[in-house]
Amino acid sequence: MTLERVLAPVLLATVALSAGCPSRGGEYDRRRQAMVANQIVARGIRDPKVIAAMASVPRHRFVPAELRAAAYADGPLPIGAGQTISQPYIVALMTESLALAGGERVLEIGTGSGYQAAVLAGIADTVYSIEIVPELAARAAAILDTLGYRNVRVRAGDGYEGWPERAPFDAVIVTAAAPRLPEPLVAQLREGGRIVAPIGDELQELEVYEKTAAGLALLSRVPVRFVPMRGKIREHERGQR
Ligand code: SAH
Repeated sequence: MTLERVLAPVLLATVALSAGCPSRGGEYDRRRQAMVANQIVARGIRDPKVIAAMASVPRHRFVPAELRAAAYADGPLPIGAGQTISQPYIVALMTESLALAGGERVLEIGTGSGYQAAVLAGIADTVYSIEIVPELAARAAAILDTLGYRNVRVRAGDGYEGWPERAPFDAVIVTAAAPRLPEPLVAQLREGGRIVAPIGDELQELEVYEKTAAGLALLSRVPVRFVPMRGKIREHERGQR
């Protein structure tokens, strides 16, 4: 028997396995490249740094194991504690809206799965990320560490107050919907830097601002849907009821 005849069934079996079993790295890579082409580039994301980061971060490692097969689908997914990992396009859009050149210090409020932090970490110098649900913060920190993201710091707590010891930041990203921009986050943004946040209640808009000497300048606004920001930002609201 020739070597080919011996190997052919083995090769066929391998191909069949990798096609049917998405737990193989190659299949996830293929799905991720398709996601970048069909959901990210096709919808107008242009920044090569953002596209490269979306093409490299293994999103399937940031979702619960039983949802891995859907990791590259065009939507958000539950990550436990009633929270979600955002749709890939929204992650790309928010990242691009910060107009990072590379080398920035970025503050993220709402670590969630850690996926958005990983995408930012591929572009920025350091990402400081705060998550109010301690179990999510711990899980995100662990997976970021396992995957080798050494430039992300995760802290459990209410992101409303920001991270004053590490301020000022070159960019701030809020990934939970707030009734208004938390004032301390604006204070911790350097002049010339950008802040992006979903603002609103039932109806929300993703607002992008640049901090100028004269105050905040609104750059863009698009309708979105995020889980609500919790904690101190709501205190005032409750007091009014
Ligand atoms: N960026 C995340 C998606 C986060 S969903 C990702 O890539 O997976 C929004 C997250 O914000 C949730 O995990 C929620 O628990 C968290 N959150 C809500 N209010 C918060 C607050 N006040 N401070 C910090 N995190 C908050």
